[in-house]
Parts: sequence; structure tokens; C-alpha cells
Amino acid sequence: MKNWGFKIAKPRIIDLDTANTKAFEELCEKVPSAKRCIMCGACTATCSAANHTSFNFRKCNIMFRRGQFEGLAEELDKCMLCGKCKLVCPRAVNTRAFIYNMRIFLNDLNYKNIK
Ligand code: SF4
Ligand code: SF4
Repeated sequence: MKNWGFKIAKPRIIDLDTANTKAFEELCEKVPSAKRCIMCGACTATCSAANHTSFNFRKCNIMFRRGQFEGLAEELDKCMLCGKCKLVCPRAVNTRAFIYNMRIFLNDLNYKNIK
């Protein structure tokens, strides 16, 4: 194959037919308001942790919905559970419970993988 001097970027296509969306369904049973999220980003714009770190709740939310768990637990650990995001959410999503339950799910997943 000819060397063009550059690499073709890995496609960012997400195949939702094969993505693990069960985790989000499971989370919605505990936090039904999670379904109301419209990805407006208001939570991320006002996030206390985002002021000091690279934490991005909206991104974590998307990753979890798509079943992309790699590195997600470490990201979620940056959240201080202060609840500021919950106060500004226009859809009254219980963001704090959302984050807390994502942590529990990922922790359980990790535990199952170790066992
Ligand atoms: S503010 Fe609420 S609706 Fe907007 S992205 Fe955050 S959780 Fe979703
Ligand atoms: S609870 Fe977490 S995500 Fe929400 S504003 Fe506080 S640090 Fe940010």
C-alpha cells in the first residue's frame, strides 16, 4: 500500500445496534428523570468540578448511554456531588443521583470482572 505520509483517522462511528444500551435502561429504573435529558449542557457549563478539572458531565452521560465505559469511572470520580448541576437543569434531571448511580454500576461491573 502506498505511504501517503499521514494516517487515516479512526472512524468515530458508533453502531447503536451493537452498543450496550442496557446500562442506561437499568439506570433509568433508579433515576427515571435521566430520560428527560436533552443534552443542553447547562449542567456542564455550571459544574464546580469542571472549573478545576477536565470533568464534563454531558460527555460522561453520552458515554454511559453508548456503553462506552473505558475510563469513565475515573472521570466520574472528579465529581464532588455538590448538586449545582441539578439546580440549573431545565429538565429537572436528578443529575446527582444520575452520577452516583453510574458510579455504583461501574463499580459493580469492575467487581464482577475481578471475580
Ligand atoms: S442540564 Fe439537564 S437537560 Fe441539560 S444536559 Fe444537563 S442533565 Fe441534560
Ligand atoms: S454534582 Fe458533580 S457534575 Fe454536578 S455540579 Fe457538582 S461537581 Fe459538577
